[in-house]
Order: sequence, then C-alpha cells, then structure tokens
Amino acid sequence: MDIETLALHAGYEKDSQSTMAVPIYQTTAYEFRDADHAANLFALKELGNIYTRLNNPTTDVFEKRFASLEGGEAALATASGMAAIFYALANVAQAGENIVCASQAYGGTLTQTAHTLKRFGIEARFFNVHDTTQLESLIDDKTRAVFFETLTNPSIDVADIEKIVEVANRHGVVTITDNTVATPVLCQPLLHGVDVSVHSASKYTTGQGLAIGGIMVERKGLNEKLKNNPRYAHFNTPDESYHGLVYTEVGLPAFTLRARLSLLRDLGAALSPFNAWLFIQGMETLPLRMRQHSKNALAVAEFLQNHPKVQKVNYPGLQNDANYPMAQKYFKEGLASGLLSFELASFEEAKKVVDSVKIFSLVVNIGDSKSIITHPASTTHQQLSDEELKACGVAPGLIRLSCGLESAEDLIADLKQALE
Ligand SMILES: *Cc1c(COP(=O)(O)O)cnc(C)c1O
Repeated sequence: MDIETLALHAGYEKDSQSTMAVPIYQTTAYEFRDADHAANLFALKELGNIYTRLNNPTTDVFEKRFASLEGGEAALATASGMAAIFYALANVAQAGENIVCASQAYGGTLTQTAHTLKRFGIEARFFNVHDTTQLESLIDDKTRAVFFETLTNPSIDVADIEKIVEVANRHGVVTITDNTVATPVLCQPLLHGVDVSVHSASKYTTGQGLAIGGIMVERKGLNEKLKNNPRYAHFNTPDESYHGLVYTEVGLPAFTLRARLSLLRDLGAALSPFNAWLFIQGMETLPLRMRQHSKNALAVAEFLQNHPKVQKVNYPGLQNDANYPMAQKYFKEGLASGLLSFELASFEEAKKVVDSVKIFSLVVNIGDSKSIITHPASTTHQQLSDEELKACGVAPGLIRLSCGLESAEDLIADLKQALE
C-alpha cells in the first residue's frame, strides 16, 4: 500500500464500538482476567496490556502506523525525541564501549552523546557525515553504533545512507539514523539498510507544534544481524533482570522488545496516550503536508539564492546545492522537506533579520505548520564551543528557516522586507 493510505489506516483495528477515529485509552493500568493471565503476560507467553509505562492501545496504533510508514518491523514510542535517541543508543552500548556519530547533528544530540553519555562511560566519536573513510577509521572492537541524521538539522546536509550502511555492516555494527526532518514520507532509511530509525514526533509528525514525543523503528530482519553478533552479547545471553530472557530467541523484534522491556520499564520515558493520539491525527495529513512544506521551502530558497545580502543558501532541493544529488537519490521525487538555512555576513545582520520578520516566528522548533525562524548561534547551539560549532556547520550569521504551510508569496515578501 502507498504511504498516503497507510498514514490513514495502518495499525488500527476497530473495536466493538467501531469508532472511525482511534480512541484515546487514557488509562494507567489494565485488569487481568486472572492470576494465570497476569503471569502469562509478564512471561511473554501471551502479549497484552500490563501498565501504560510499557504499552497502551492508543500508543500501539501510533507505533504500528509509524512502523508501517517507515517500512519497518516494529516501533517503540517515547516521551520525546531525545528519549528515543537515548534509548536507541543505550539499547546497544554500555560503559566502556563507544558510538560513532555524525558531527552534523541536532544540538541536543551533540550534547547527549558528547557529554551525558560520556558520564555513563560511553564514548562518542565524531565523523563528518560526508566522510566514510573517517567513519571507518573510528570504528573499533568496542563500537556499538553508527549514528547519523538522514537530513541534518541545522546544517542541512543529506547523508549518503547506503555508503554509511555499507561501512557499518562490514564491521557488524548497528546503524541508527535520525529521520526527523525528512520524515518517512520523503525518505525511508530502513529500506536502504539502516537498522533503526529514530524520530522526534514533536516536529512534522504532529505538524502543528502540539506535543513532544519520539519514536524508534526497527528494520525487518534486524534480529539476524544481532543474533550471535559478539558486539551485542546482551541480546544473545540471558537478561537477569527479566528472568533469563534471551531477546533474540523469543521470535519477536529483539531491538524493540529489549528497549520496551528493559529501558522503558526502568527509565520510564513513556509517551502519554493523549500525545500518541495527537500524533495519529497529524500523521493523517503528513504526506500532504510534506509536499507543501517542500514546495514552499524550494520557492523561499530560490528567492534567497538571488538576494544580494545572502552569502549562501543550504537547501538540497536547489540544483546547485552540494547535497542535491543525495536528495535526488534518497528523497521521494527529490522533495527536500521544509528546512533550509542561509548565511548572512555577521551575527549582527542575522539578529536584525530575526527581529524584523513578521510572519516567521522566532521559535526553537521546526516542522510546525506555522513558519519558524531561528538563529542557532545565539540559541540552540549557544552551548557549543567555536570548534564544535564549526564541526556541525553553524556559522555566526547562519539563519535557519522551517517553512510552514502559509503561501510561499507571503513568506518571500516577509523575508524581503526583513532583509532590507
Ligand atoms: C527536535 C529534534 C530532536 C529532539 O526531539 P524532542 O522531541 O525535542 O526531544 C532530535 N533530532 C532532531 C533532528 C530534531 O529536530
């Protein structure tokens, strides 16, 4: 089935009330039929609801629907995108091991990997997303994941997904990609061999800037890669915390199963059922919206490219953009999402534009239906050193736009007056 159809129907089987809209199961817990039923659920002899920290029928529809859009096997929703990233990494790496991450990445991802994971004894090593030779040189016996964004925020680079996957697979290392900006509508990294995709659902999934949430999706067939892989002994040996369960031997998608039974159980960043419901509403129009976001961003990028004050525009939908060939290769119809950035001569000039726009709102978010403008050097990336800024492609005069669903003409007129 096409993504437009799946976005409306996948994962929902109507219950006895036959409601067209997916119901919100706003509940903490579920009654067991009897003691045997309860014991069977805990022992995974039967699958079912136990407690909303672990699973919930509304969240289940969101997970199944999202997994189907990504062409994946199973998904796990989390309370935020950052939690999804943390769980995906913590699911494979422990103290004394390392992960290799693309340095062009979301600010929170950089601080989580470089600083917070370091305190947990997990070392993050960084590679330029376009340099797979450097990536390979950083992989060693202790590497447990290669992490990168398909379409990077805020530097707007497009990863050569298959090249990265090829290097990681040669070493039997799990690949995890953040597909938040491209969304499954434009790009399906799992179908290019990536093992796990993670998303901030707070962005395009909700679409209207309504709620914080995250999700991770595992590729079909990931079990075979984990099975007996010496890098992932904890998927192949009994888990003491779950009465000796061996995750790759249950016949269920092992990555998601372990993230749910171990990480969600113990760390607890569960998605609220109400937010899952909001994401389900957002997904209904995701395919339509991503087309329009992409069209508007292309029109704005073309305008900026011809403006005398603009030194550089980064948008992979522009034919002369360095990332254009990658966008053509990996993105549906070459559509390149709503995010673009452009460089002005200085920090001061960038500040002036940000203060002068009227339709664009100064907000540190992306993927809202309303257009957003950000100055990363003074906000999202303020905590990074000059060196880290340079590595992730953030110049002092860089402005990031998240083009919304207003008319492209109005957006261009707004930028035009702000640049005067
Ligand atoms: C926003 C964002 C995140 C973090 O997601 P939250 O839902 O805000 O926790 C991660 N990655 C990317 C690319 C993002 O844009």
